[in-house]
Amino acid sequence: MLQRSSSSPISACLVAERLAPVRVIFLGGLGEIGRNCAIVEVEGRLIVIDVGIMFPEPDMPGVDLVLPDFTFLRENADRVDGIVLTHGHEDHVGGLSYLLRDLEAPVYGSPLTVGLAAHRVREAGLSNKATFIEVADGETVRIGPCDVEFIPVTHSVPSAMAIAFHTPQGVVLHSGDFKLDLNPVDGRRTDLARIGELARTKGIRLLLSDSTNAEEPGFTESESTVGVTLRRLFAMRAGQRIVVACFASHLHRIQQVVDAAHASGRRIATLGRSMKNNVDLARRLGILTMPPGSLIDITEIDSLPPGEICVLSTGSQGEPMAAMSLMAAGQSKWLDLGDDDVVVLSAHPIPGNEWSVGQVINGLHRRGAEVIHSAHEPVHVSGHARRGELSTLLSVTSPDCFVPVHGEFRHLKHHAALAETMGVDPSNVIQATDGDVIRLDDRGIRKESTVPAGYLYVDGAASDIDHGILRDRQVLASEGMVMVVASVDLQTREVVAGPEVLTRGWAGPTSEELLSVEAAASVAQALKSSLADGNADIEGLNRVARRALGRFVGTRTRQKPMIVPVIVAT
Ligand SMILES: [Zn+2]
Ligand SMILES: [Zn+2]
Repeated sequence: MLQRSSSSPISACLVAERLAPVRVIFLGGLGEIGRNCAIVEVEGRLIVIDVGIMFPEPDMPGVDLVLPDFTFLRENADRVDGIVLTHGHEDHVGGLSYLLRDLEAPVYGSPLTVGLAAHRVREAGLSNKATFIEVADGETVRIGPCDVEFIPVTHSVPSAMAIAFHTPQGVVLHSGDFKLDLNPVDGRRTDLARIGELARTKGIRLLLSDSTNAEEPGFTESESTVGVTLRRLFAMRAGQRIVVACFASHLHRIQQVVDAAHASGRRIATLGRSMKNNVDLARRLGILTMPPGSLIDITEIDSLPPGEICVLSTGSQGEPMAAMSLMAAGQSKWLDLGDDDVVVLSAHPIPGNEWSVGQVINGLHRRGAEVIHSAHEPVHVSGHARRGELSTLLSVTSPDCFVPVHGEFRHLKHHAALAETMGVDPSNVIQATDGDVIRLDDRGIRKESTVPAGYLYVDGAASDIDHGILRDRQVLASEGMVMVVASVDLQTREVVAGPEVLTRGWAGPTSEELLSVEAAASVAQALKSSLADGNADIEGLNRVARRALGRFVGTRTRQKPMIVPVIVAT
């Protein structure tokens, strides 16, 4: 790298003048898998890269999804010139419908990416707030002061892109999610030739690269190997009905299921709303091809012999209300699984979903179906580059500076170390985390400051819930609730009803009944003395009751359930 930079255009400029610094701001995806969101700042203008969601972790009861904290973007909305999308996965586009409430900016991406993202935005009723601009493979668009180039990469959704920002500080290359699939289903490979050309002619000043599989040695298998397995499995199960579950956005996987089904004389029915929507979208865009007449409606499957049916289903992650979970529970409206049926789970549980997927597998077995999953047949491969591929990208780009992105702390750490072994100057390798602002200037790269980047929890329709609510739910889930109800007469200064102590989900060391009586007595005592002292304010009396009950529960049981006083005036 030293060799090359001595003759690169960047170094030539360094001597002549000081160039505007470039900043990269990370709002999510550095420290967790999901809610990917970063911002590139060029000459004071901002371009957002991806707006993803994260699926909730087990200690987030009742949370449906987690968003990046958009405070920085909201406060700087007038500086945002555009949003660029690397690909259509939920952890990269799922947050758009929330961000677009606060900010209007054109959204750029491949036709499929934009199609997948726009669908969600439409569902949220925000179509009027979003302008989607489709970009072709290899296209460069001008966004604010910056030329932005979209470079094809392979991943587990078609039409994924790496993005090169041509900035005054040189080329900043964001890999997006990628793998180096040499035999992709659609023949569209990661454009290493273009990336190499950029490195040779302009130099890659900063590489931001996907770290998801940075701990895994070797190379990720080609997606097309799954097709070989599917064809073999389908052929061996002539006469049996087959149900395949995979991500609805994994259209190359879906293509291979379609091909295997067709080769074994089966027709395809989709199950699950997102599967139907995505199949329709991909067929319209020419990304998914199906032989004429091969797609039937799910209502028609009973009119065909089992051996002529293949059902494509959602729910490969064990999502409770998805088609696959309903089938496993025997509650599907469309499919009653039995001994002769075959279910293929063509996916790997994403972290946090292992338990739910395990439950689904148990349920399917209970119904008598044969269950084939990645533990015993190669029916799934990853969409992310392993160490061999990450090294290849580092070698082809020879970046001056490197920041690993997309991964938990451990993945980022391994990827940073890998970059150093691949020859990136250790002082130019930065392990950043959510909220970090990285500054790239004539002197080099460094962490400059931070912006808010906490988790934003979303609970169904009730958009964001704050940390207090989540904390309450965690307390309720782990310790339960103790509630005290009483009414007081503020004139006569007497407790006229209660106190009565009620508990939910709370297990004390002695009988709950006895404990409740003693707890009520201690609250009654506290209320009486407070009233006698002249306290005639209902809020104050609630505080007194909470304190008395909390103290009693704490000393008697050493537990900290949620304490809820309900003291009312008559
Ligand atoms: Zn992805
Ligand atoms: Zn991702």
